[in-house]
Amino acid sequence: MLFRELGLIEPVLQAVEAEGYTTPSPIQAGAIPPALEGRDVLGIAQTGTGKTAAFALPAIHRLFAGALPKPGARRPIRALVIAPTRELAMQIRDSFIAYGRKTPLRVIAVVGGISQEIQVRALRNGVDALIATPGRLVDLMRQRLIDLSAVEMLTLDEADRMFDMGFAPDLKFITAALPAKRQNMLFSATMPGPIVELSKSLLKDPARVEIKPEKTPMQIIEQSVLIVPREAKNATLTAYFRLNEPERAIVFTRTKHGADRVAKVLARAGIPSGAIHGDKRQNARIKALFDFKNGRTRVLVATDIAARGIDVDNISHVINFDMPGDPETYIHRVGRTGRAGNSGKAVSLCQPEERRLVGAIERLGGRKIAMDRIDPALLAELPIELPPMNDGPDMDGDEFENRPRPEGGFRNFDGPPPGRGGFGGRGRRPAGKGGPVKFGSRSGPARFADGPGGVAKSSGGPNRPRGKGGPRKPSRGGPR
Ligand code: AMP
Repeated sequence: MLFRELGLIEPVLQAVEAEGYTTPSPIQAGAIPPALEGRDVLGIAQTGTGKTAAFALPAIHRLFAGALPKPGARRPIRALVIAPTRELAMQIRDSFIAYGRKTPLRVIAVVGGISQEIQVRALRNGVDALIATPGRLVDLMRQRLIDLSAVEMLTLDEADRMFDMGFAPDLKFITAALPAKRQNMLFSATMPGPIVELSKSLLKDPARVEIKPEKTPMQIIEQSVLIVPREAKNATLTAYFRLNEPERAIVFTRTKHGADRVAKVLARAGIPSGAIHGDKRQNARIKALFDFKNGRTRVLVATDIAARGIDVDNISHVINFDMPGDPETYIHRVGRTGRAGNSGKAVSLCQPEERRLVGAIERLGGRKIAMDRIDPALLAELPIELPPMNDGPDMDGDEFENRPRPEGGFRNFDGPPPGRGGFGGRGRRPAGKGGPVKFGSRSGPARFADGPGGVAKSSGGPNRPRGKGGPRKPSRGGPR
């Protein structure tokens, strides 16, 4: 649909074109036609959907579709828009100015924090459309400095926010003073009980237009972070696979060497996977990807760079074996699941000294992430034979494929500083936080919920976590 098909008057269309809009947004396509007919409208939409034009365009159209005002004639307020905040009212005023630039429209905003005198003088000169915050409008009404007896169109914008801010009595006072015969438009991002009541009392047979907010991958994907000492990551990964049996997973590692090592760990645990990274030959990469896409392998282990451009549908799990270097990379990684309306899970193995990064991710993603600790007893029960972790940098000298980590960031590959985190200092906060840390509490009990015990210390040789000092279980896998 094009704006031209909506039946708006030519000067409004020209202004819309000048703004660079070609097609109406869904709220506009839904609200403008009934609004032009003079019907009441209930618009359920958030900021950013184009809702301002959805009520401003038909209002300007209806102001000037008939005869244009004669020079010198009295200009009563015919369109009234009420918005919760000064900033929003000013924005709406600016939109009216932009959309009404090819018409003789006079519009002002009456808001708090600005001299009342200037606003009153402007009102005396006559305006067609008034944009107001409830408080200042009620002030002017009580002082009898404003005449609302000619209002034909009322719009309440962000009604839910106005109720949250305690403006309900002001709105009642204002609407009671308006002519009964008028068009009403009510826009609200949400419809809690009081707004449903308001819409029932205010609107007659309204056209209802609802725009469902789009969810970002960060909102759709079920995310958790497991606080895992470096030494327990292999065991945690295999335990996670055995317990959750992901259908199609990408495991991210920080380095090329790490990707190969994780693929080996998974292979030993009976979980076939393919690894892709910069050192793999093109043929090997293509094969790994082909097997993964066709479901021959359920797991792809990849570095960030190698994973670029991989477009595989229906990824059920993203597993960050290594935390990414920065929050943006995290969002990029987890966005590989939860596509096309599907759900998805992301789990990150986070070393105790990397916890700060989780806060940064939460801030960027706009939501909390459940944080758990591995249950040492659970790990001890899983008879997994694992190759040792390599403590130093990768033996083949590969560089980190990620962007360099920020100064003072999370590049701590030699384990936590003495006495903190890791095996010895478990239960302590990183420097500066103080006090014991409660893990597993944010999301309630989880599969990897922490008990009062500690993560068992690896006793050299093959890295194998144990329960609280309990006897070591016999290995299943024979000598390595
Ligand atoms: P709003 O939800 O009214 O705050 O509008 C959000 C943004 O979308 C504003 O910057 C408008 O200028 C812009 N906008 C509104 N309608 C359209 C449209 N039909 N096409 C393109 N941009 C639009």
